[in-house]
Amino acid sequence: MKDSVLDYDAIERELAEFEAAERKRLGLEEAEPEHWHDANPQAFTRADRETTTILLGGLTLAHDHLLTGAMAGLGYRIEALPCPDLEALRFGKEFGNRGQCNPTYFTVGNLIKHLTHLRDDEGMEVPEIIQRFVFLTAGACGPCRFGTYVTEYRKALADAGFEGFRVLLFQQQGGLRQATGDASGLEVNGQFFRSAVRAAMAGDCLNLAGYRIRPYEVHAGETDAALDECRTILFDTLRERRSLIPALVRCRRRLNRVTVNRMQPKPKVSIIGEFWAMTTEGDGNYRLQRFLEAEGAEVDIQPVTTWILYNIWEHQHDTRRRLLLRGDDDGTMGLEGKDGRTKLVALWAAERAVRAIFGTYTRAIGLAGYHLPDMDEVATVSHQYYDNHLRGGEGHMEVGKLIQTVAQRKAHMVVSIKPFGCMPSSGVSDGVQSLITARYPEAIFSAIETTGDGEVNVQSRIQMDLFKARKRAEAEYRTAVERSQMSESELRSKLRGRRRALHHPPHVVAGTGANQVLELAGISTWPA
Ligand code: SF4
Repeated sequence: MKDSVLDYDAIERELAEFEAAERKRLGLEEAEPEHWHDANPQAFTRADRETTTILLGGLTLAHDHLLTGAMAGLGYRIEALPCPDLEALRFGKEFGNRGQCNPTYFTVGNLIKHLTHLRDDEGMEVPEIIQRFVFLTAGACGPCRFGTYVTEYRKALADAGFEGFRVLLFQQQGGLRQATGDASGLEVNGQFFRSAVRAAMAGDCLNLAGYRIRPYEVHAGETDAALDECRTILFDTLRERRSLIPALVRCRRRLNRVTVNRMQPKPKVSIIGEFWAMTTEGDGNYRLQRFLEAEGAEVDIQPVTTWILYNIWEHQHDTRRRLLLRGDDDGTMGLEGKDGRTKLVALWAAERAVRAIFGTYTRAIGLAGYHLPDMDEVATVSHQYYDNHLRGGEGHMEVGKLIQTVAQRKAHMVVSIKPFGCMPSSGVSDGVQSLITARYPEAIFSAIETTGDGEVNVQSRIQMDLFKARKRAEAEYRTAVERSQMSESELRSKLRGRRRALHHPPHVVAGTGANQVLELAGISTWPA
């Protein structure tokens, strides 16, 4: 018999009815399953604001501190958690699910550690803690575990004895999720976004300035002392909701008083990788930035603003693709009922605004010559190795950053740091990056996986690559001095106005010392 005369749906229906009848006759009927739902309490009303402290954390110390200043300026009681350490990891592993990625353990454990401290050391009762504190964290959808963080927080809180503690989820791509409860106490509006972005950019400026100056400081600790003062200046400015530009200019003056000696060949190491692992400054990445500096390197960090630009780029890219569809799709980010072109204009304006504000801030603090990456260019150079449609973690950015760093001589060495168990980042560094290093054999590339333990192994691996990078920086510096046709003392005598700590010689090669020599000699090219 031909298929076309069979009614498969009717057969399926008949079979299902027969099965149901037989189950009933034999007493095998199954009860309707009761699915588990996370109550996810988020009640945080306007009236709670006076008495409730919002806890936050997860970025660098500067960012977390300045964010508290910005939020305090909007009338919130707010407190930053300390940087996650190994004790936080222990709490995270004790109360978290198995098989999570490392940032989950560190960040979830950090909250549990703090609440446990309030309960056990400060003698607060659990109901009082639950009433007086909430935790604010970022979330996102997507193919990695980031989307499940809030549930992980809830599970660990319940198991640690803080059932009912409120975790407010700030969605990276869509405001505050208020699935249940009244979260009107936290107003995610334009003012909230502007304050958060201002604080994030101010934190970026401070960090970039610190990593630019500290490796060359003459008196140990001088840069950190200046940064402390700047943090206070910026915190007060954000809390009082004043313009950041005069405050950043004050910071520039303070930072420029640090005595530096840039005329030395230091390997420049770019840190890329998974967002949290490359951003945190504690045990979560074995204090990688400070370790590299202690080993004589200059560290090139990735500002949080780059992440904001990547988010904008994702929307631009997806919207352009959606405009090519035969009809408007009704997905979460679909264009059904929206005007795609208007959306693209708005995204273009947002990108321009981010770049303009960041540029103004970096100029005010004295970070001349600092450029945010062109996200289209990053996408283009990486696309043939890592499809731009793949999302999660840093997406194609890790690949693009490595290619650009090597091809444009931005650093002598690249460390890609990712947490153990990270899906997108491990896939990139352990897989695709080996192809990139084969195509760019001059790259000194260290792929590091963090687990919380094994610090000495990681450091010794980095030291081995750093040795090669140091040799490369020294050779580059020697060549620069030879090309200048001057002695080092002659070059030093020409420094004059370029002694300021924040002075940055134009980029020709990777090393700051070599660039300084080339600037003094008036050379702006380098043999291929
Ligand atoms: S990018 Fe990796 S480490 Fe980060 S949240 Fe996702 S799975 Fe975890």
